Amino acid sequence: MNTFIESFLELIYPEKNICCMCDIYDETIDDKYICADCERKIKKIIPPYCIKCCKPINYSSSTNLCPDCISFEKFFEESRSPFLYEGIIKKGIYNLKYYNKPYYLRYFGNALLQYMNDNDYNNFDYIIPVPLHPLKLKSRGYNQSELIAKYIAKKLNITFIDGISRIKQTGKQSTKSKEDRRRSLENAFKIKKSKKYHILKNSTILLVDDIYTTGSTANECSKALLDYGISKVYVITIAR
Ligand SMILES: [Zn+2]
Ligand SMILES: [Zn+2]
Repeated sequence: MNTFIESFLELIYPEKNICCMCDIYDETIDDKYICADCERKIKKIIPPYCIKCCKPINYSSSTNLCPDCISFEKFFEESRSPFLYEGIIKKGIYNLKYYNKPYYLRYFGNALLQYMNDNDYNNFDYIIPVPLHPLKLKSRGYNQSELIAKYIAKKLNITFIDGISRIKQTGKQSTKSKEDRRRSLENAFKIKKSKKYHILKNSTILLVDDIYTTGSTANECSKALLDYGISKVYVITIAR
């Protein structure tokens, strides 16, 4: 290729041909942002899974629900995740969270778009991210879920609205038990106070987060949205 065009392309796509998981340079990567080796290592969630929260299930019960969704009320309609939260996906999400490089965002954003397209999971009025607490946002500099939500909203031509605020600081969730997590997140979210959010009433929302762990975050956000008058909440996370 003409070296001028080549260097121009590198300027607009600085991470073209680089794998976002292992940093290898390979010209077959192109703008997929992942090499063939890493792609093979990714664990995708395939059926059978819980029809509510997408947890893989290895039995076919009459309800197709996992034990958690049978025992605890979920305020969202469905939550979907393309990947299992382990191995290189876990590492990739960590990188997305702490190193703001565009290729992490593009890789995960495109993976979600592909998944949504393949599963007809794209009929939403608005796309809303799970917020960080303002203090956490200040220390980290950006909210990875917001970046992902904006990315997919733009590509799907659906309006992005940063409409939820986190009113409770909950500390590190990953070290807490399921029950503590549930309790600490109770009433942690509310819809922002401004008339401009009234358009959300009676709409169908896609709530975006990076990871689904116990489902408490997605559930509490969904509850706040329903309390406000939103009709239906669907959730998508990169992994679970
Ligand atoms: Zn790789
Ligand atoms: Zn479930």
